[in-house]
Amino acid sequence: MTNAPVRTDTLDLIGNTPLVLLSGASEAAGCEIWGKCEFANPGASVKDRAALWIIRDAEARGELKPGGTVVEGTAGNTGIGIALVANALGYKTVIVMPDNQSQEKMDTLRALGAQLVTVPPTKFADPNHFVHTSRRIAEETDNAIWANQFDNVANRRAHIEGTAPEIWEQMEGRVDGFTCAVGTGGTLAGVGMGLKAQDEGVRIALTDPHGAALYNYYANGELKSEGSSVAEGIGQGRITANLEDAPIDDQFRISDEEGLDWVARLLREEGLCLGLSSGINVAGAVALGRKLVAEGHEEPRIATILCDSGFRYLSTLYNAEWLAKKGLPVFDWLGSS
Ligand code: PMP
Repeated sequence: MTNAPVRTDTLDLIGNTPLVLLSGASEAAGCEIWGKCEFANPGASVKDRAALWIIRDAEARGELKPGGTVVEGTAGNTGIGIALVANALGYKTVIVMPDNQSQEKMDTLRALGAQLVTVPPTKFADPNHFVHTSRRIAEETDNAIWANQFDNVANRRAHIEGTAPEIWEQMEGRVDGFTCAVGTGGTLAGVGMGLKAQDEGVRIALTDPHGAALYNYYANGELKSEGSSVAEGIGQGRITANLEDAPIDDQFRISDEEGLDWVARLLREEGLCLGLSSGINVAGAVALGRKLVAEGHEEPRIATILCDSGFRYLSTLYNAEWLAKKGLPVFDWLGSS
């Protein structure tokens, strides 16, 4: 007997990802740490879910019509998800991306048939920011929609209706805490809302990288960033619509070094090749687990998100030269060349 699912529609391959017990992280935390395998989505990231929900929502509202174009500004993963979903449904895709994101993501977007526009990275207030550029392109294109993942709450609905109930069921209703980092906030807010709907007592925590402003916001009400991070897809400086009313109980800030240490451990000890946001999430989950244990919770069970595949970062996180140039520790098996 197999319990491997059978599907008749490729879009049904999005979501319903496996949940895996992370043994090294569980040992470090002194309690169970579970990882939701979002790299197992067809586009190899958690953002396939947002892409599907945003496109289905635009269709349902009559905004996206046959033969239409989906335009989006993205660090890459949302674009990859949109390109796949759009291909499956007969839409075209235009993706605007800052040019400091990994080469693999740009190559992937082109390979999937998306039209790729790259812009220099700049502050959100700059009209040339990738988000504003994508909105303008959508306005200027016939029969096009702007996916607007940051402020379109169809994004977090993907996690309220999908990710959260999946985690709840997979953990058989015994979830004590959930944490992850924020890009748009769709995952943290949506999973947080979805789990709280099951049990108000589930502890929801933000895990912020350095260079993002949310840690200070949830800790003391001030949007203020400190330091920087090379992590792609996470690090937010404002309260997006997806983050509004997010039920955040706690917050942790994790350095790139700590996140990379978990990326290395997950690869070496557990055979999982992941991106840096996953390493940062696991570090946050360990911090949350330790805190719940210290507070006297008996055998708490924590869930987090394994956001995307490390194969997307061969030229960065898994490249000795790149790591050394960024002043980051080089994985010992990569050598130092
Ligand atoms: N990790 C990676 C690699 C991502 O691309 C993203 C999405 N930008 C996230 C984490 C964060 O997800 P969300 O947008 O739902 O906050």
